[in-house]
Amino acid sequence: MELRAWGLSEVGVTRTHNEDYFEIDSRRRLYLVADGMGGHSHGEVASRTAVQAVREFLEDRLPAADGAETDGQRTLLRTAIHSAHEKVLCAIRQDGSLSGMGTTLVALLAQGSTVAVAHVGDSRAYRLRDRQLDLLTEDHTWVHEQVVAGFLSEEQARVHPLKNVVTRALGSDGEIKVDVQELPIAPGDRYLLCSDGLTTMLRDDEIERALSAPGSLEESCRQLVRAAKSRGGFDDVTVIVVEAT
Ligand code: CA
Repeated sequence: MELRAWGLSEVGVTRTHNEDYFEIDSRRRLYLVADGMGGHSHGEVASRTAVQAVREFLEDRLPAADGAETDGQRTLLRTAIHSAHEKVLCAIRQDGSLSGMGTTLVALLAQGSTVAVAHVGDSRAYRLRDRQLDLLTEDHTWVHEQVVAGFLSEEQARVHPLKNVVTRALGSDGEIKVDVQELPIAPGDRYLLCSDGLTTMLRDDEIERALSAPGSLEESCRQLVRAAKSRGGFDDVTVIVVEAT
């Protein structure tokens, strides 16, 4: 199966620097979005450190894309993200001024006819199939816990003042738990990886419309980011769209 991808990241309208970071490694079919947090410019250090650590870990362990199946795709991705967590912690240990930085991470790794999706925090992965959008990840946030417990609706959670409070992040103290799943890919699938700068501004049905609209992957990315910014776009917005053909 052929995979094509495009990504775009823009700084929030009220911000001076972009704390999101993304990478597309087409050769290894690896796609990563991270959303950093921390004072000064430390959020961007955390997101970049985590993304690069995952890519470097997998670089030596994955063949270049040739459609071959790799056993233990899920385990490999999980281990890579644990190593990224260690890298962020290590950076904090080496430079005390970075204390308190952390980052979310959402990763998609395609091999053969399956895709592994992993995440920590509130950066999300969606799949558009037959014009229907499915959220593949579950936010690790306080507001999502309230939704699950029945105290908040999805819509209330999306605009809640505490919507940014994540319950899991790379660089936080101690062990982290990574959610990973493996799913079959079908031709025509479109996958979206994004930071919460998109999903706090747009509802899922709006994302579904933008992602189903005819046009190139670049146009889809531009349309999503433009729509988030037109709603205020206070936060940095990052999207990667991957299409299987
Ligand atoms: Ca954010």
